[in-house]
Amino acid sequence: MKKASLYGTGALLFLALTGCAQQSKSDAAAQLNDQSVMALNWFQQSGEYQALTYQAFTTATYAFDKAQSLTGKPKAVIVDLDETMIDNSAYSAWQVKANKPFEDKSWSRWTHAEQANAVPGAVSFAQYVDSHGGIMFYVSNRDQKDYAATLANLQRLGFPNVNAKTLRLSTTTSNKQARFDAIKNEGYNVVLYVGDNLNDFGAATYHKSNAERRNFVNSNHSLFGTQFIVLPNPLYGDWESGLAPGYNKLTPEQKLKVRADALKAWDGK
Ligand SMILES: [Mg+2]
Repeated sequence: MKKASLYGTGALLFLALTGCAQQSKSDAAAQLNDQSVMALNWFQQSGEYQALTYQAFTTATYAFDKAQSLTGKPKAVIVDLDETMIDNSAYSAWQVKANKPFEDKSWSRWTHAEQANAVPGAVSFAQYVDSHGGIMFYVSNRDQKDYAATLANLQRLGFPNVNAKTLRLSTTTSNKQARFDAIKNEGYNVVLYVGDNLNDFGAATYHKSNAERRNFVNSNHSLFGTQFIVLPNPLYGDWESGLAPGYNKLTPEQKLKVRADALKAWDGK
């Protein structure tokens, strides 16, 4: 009887502890999502975000015009899609509201809904390039299974010349360098890259730490605004996984700690 009772107490304790662990796990996951709220407020509500995207595309237009023409090689502009030309912040906001992590399945449902909006200034820029002797290449790491929906979404928003030649999604790797090289090898004079992630400008920062990514930017600072045009994205990006080695495989609790530990704070004295 006593043994059974002890067993019962132990089982209850076990249940209580695992219950606590699960609770804390879901708390940590919810906390991770909640940390996106201010970034989403800024992205979706601030005039400053819009001002920055217009600024980026105005700079891109100047840079396109200024870039050297090469005889027999049409000028090409390579742009990323997500959070560069199109706005998926409603998906990120859904993650917060529904307390869901990023998952391929829900992302694919979002892309198939074709509800992404254009980033302010993006369509006008693409139309400018298209009507001034240039060709747009839309190089994204969206999945091939989302190709038709992505194409339809872009066409509906008014992006020009979106077709099987110019829309290039991820095939075997998220490293875009091979796709960039292929466009050059097809005879195009690539004059400009536009993106929200350093990986949109080449392989130099692929899977690198933030220290290495910052070094790349510092060493190549004169290319920004002339050959590389950056759109602001505080919602997600390789800057997040660059916070710690193996970041994407960490538990929500570990990610929270990495984020907190990365803060450079005043000592308050
Ligand atoms: Mg992007």
